Amino acid sequence: MYLIKNARVFTPNDIGQKDILVAGQEIIDVCESGAISVKGADCIEIEATGKILTPGLVDSLVHIIGGGGEGGFTTRTPEMYLSDAIQAGVTTLIGVLGTDSVTRSLPNLLAKACALEEEGLTVFCHTGSYQIPARTLFESIDQDIILIEKFIGVGEIAISDHRSSQPNGQELARLASQTRVGGMLSGKAGIVSVHVGDSDACLQPILDVVSATDLPIKQFYPTHINRSQRLLNAGKEFAALGGYVDLTASTTPEILAAGEVKCSTALSQLLNAGVSASQITFSSDGFASLPDFDDQGNLRGLKVGSLTSLLDEVRDAVNIDHVPLETALTVVTRSPADILKLTHKGRIEKGADADLLLLDADNLQLDTVFANGKLMMHEKRLLKKGLFETGQSI
Ligand code: ZN
Repeated sequence: MYLIKNARVFTPNDIGQKDILVAGQEIIDVCESGAISVKGADCIEIEATGKILTPGLVDSLVHIIGGGGEGGFTTRTPEMYLSDAIQAGVTTLIGVLGTDSVTRSLPNLLAKACALEEEGLTVFCHTGSYQIPARTLFESIDQDIILIEKFIGVGEIAISDHRSSQPNGQELARLASQTRVGGMLSGKAGIVSVHVGDSDACLQPILDVVSATDLPIKQFYPTHINRSQRLLNAGKEFAALGGYVDLTASTTPEILAAGEVKCSTALSQLLNAGVSASQITFSSDGFASLPDFDDQGNLRGLKVGSLTSLLDEVRDAVNIDHVPLETALTVVTRSPADILKLTHKGRIEKGADADLLLLDADNLQLDTVFANGKLMMHEKRLLKKGLFETGQSI
């Protein structure tokens, strides 16, 4: 058991100074400071005066086995390690394939998800990849979602991108309906994660499906909406119709110079346009390649997405873009958890999973990480790393 004392608690709503009691994997009490006293050697007290306590971050898009490869085999990005998540404050993540579903496979994705979970994180996956027809483990998307516990949706399915399979409306609608039914029959989100590229069509392929069918707009979870101001503007209209919008936190100076809207700034713009924080999320796109194409579409260079970008963008949203801290925290905790139907994640309340972060109140630097009730980082010291990680002091 752990008793975390005197932290200012953001559930992600600011509920002031509280004490939190953790037993096993669960938060078992949230009380006024000093109200709980636990006797016995089994309970470790953590004094957290001057700290902010938040839920562990929920990252809805991570290429956990790597991604990329758009510039040939040497440009395939590496797998992530446990500490890549812990040092980023990410305790729940959704693993996906990407452009490449030939040399990257769903069995490999599931095995990596299981490995990260054995090491302490909570990991789910999407079946499929960029392409339609979707790459699946069984015969169909609905079978994958119903029969495999870790699959909660499909994606990221690419639209409006030269790397997509150029799906037509009927293909996209059929894929979405299968995903929806798979989600309904298994009690999962059954959501379609959509990679939106930089072609003129923006979000129109989704809107066409929604207007031509009975599928609700919330069936789709489009990402990279801050890719350009034009796409962000389309995202505002999409959100006004009730849709979700996911902003990508990982970036490079070159990508920003090419017209991407910084994630924190895009959040501020969406909020100013009246979009609810419950419809907005950040994801890291961790371990994706961050390609830099020239005007002719030739690849000039590649970098790798980082999970730490999530908390960096939360800090910038607060410090630069003047977004209230509880709103900035909502888009990396409760909003993605709710959209993905992970009801025990992304919140601090009695009965929720004990995924918790302590941040320094003055500069929001990460100090302590609990994942499923286990202390993974404390006083900025990493306490646990993956089995094959090297070169880091513990
Ligand atoms: Zn993508």
